[in-house]
Amino acid sequence: MLTTIANRSVIVTGASKGIGKGIARVFASKGARVLIASRDLAQADAVGAEIRSAGGIASGLAADVSSPEDCARMARAAVERHGGIDIVCCNAGVFPAARLGAMSVADWDQVLDINLKGTFLTVDACLPALTARGRGRVIVTSSITGPITGYPGWSHYAASKAGQLGFVRTAAIELAPHNITVNAVLPGNILTEGVEALGPEYIARMTSAIPQRRLGSVEDVAYAALFLASDEAAFISGQTIVVDGGQVLPESHMALEDL
Ligand code: NAP
Repeated sequence: MLTTIANRSVIVTGASKGIGKGIARVFASKGARVLIASRDLAQADAVGAEIRSAGGIASGLAADVSSPEDCARMARAAVERHGGIDIVCCNAGVFPAARLGAMSVADWDQVLDINLKGTFLTVDACLPALTARGRGRVIVTSSITGPITGYPGWSHYAASKAGQLGFVRTAAIELAPHNITVNAVLPGNILTEGVEALGPEYIARMTSAIPQRRLGSVEDVAYAALFLASDEAAFISGQTIVVDGGQVLPESHMALEDL
């Protein structure tokens, strides 16, 4: 049993749906006070209302993580609503596909601005409140795509997700004297509303690439993040946890066919 995170103030970016919503719900179910950030206020508010109706403490906020002003406002809101910031989950991300040759500079910039620069801007804005606490946690949602694997159409996305790990490792060193750990979770294929909308054929094809023969749930990722947020994980920093049901392990498709 891990030490409780009850009453800790948590920001989860990109928490209006998908993995971020899962993190917000799991953290709130453990008593944390959660600020749910996304560009769409109505969706963020809806998640806040859902958590409150289940007895949790949460509220929504409209913030674009690629905007320094929005990130500053997000950090201020967490301090005003919850008295400070203990845990920051940099989870907001986009993954539009574009192959090289068809990818525009605008495509590249959009993905890098949100996924990579957004991670820096979120941490940067929260830093004064995190350091004031004398302890803290930063948990970045990276991906297996980029740090470990590749996939056609996602060179910009893969670069952003690998870039996040470079950020994590150096930020972990810089923030260590403040008792702040910085780690990343690397999800494989997770069954979010967006993935579900791609249909049963897509899901069946992805499932066939995973040794556990299922896609991950948002809770699978959230519980890895919860561990990294716990007091028990205090001596772990600059590290990654892959949450993929063994997807990166087979050395070829034959290894899966031979199962
Ligand atoms: P999702 O269901 O599409 O949710 C993305 C969330 O990010 C939404 O709440 C979205 O809300 C928010 N968002 C997007 N751009 C934003 C911005 N500029 N500022 C603030 N919020 C923003 O995606 P997901 O699958 O849960 O992915 C979440 C994270 O996990 C991403 O970093 C993704 O790269 C990573 N990941 C996902 C998978 C997977 O299988 N699903 C696998 C590996 C890694 P708004 O659009 O309203 O802003």
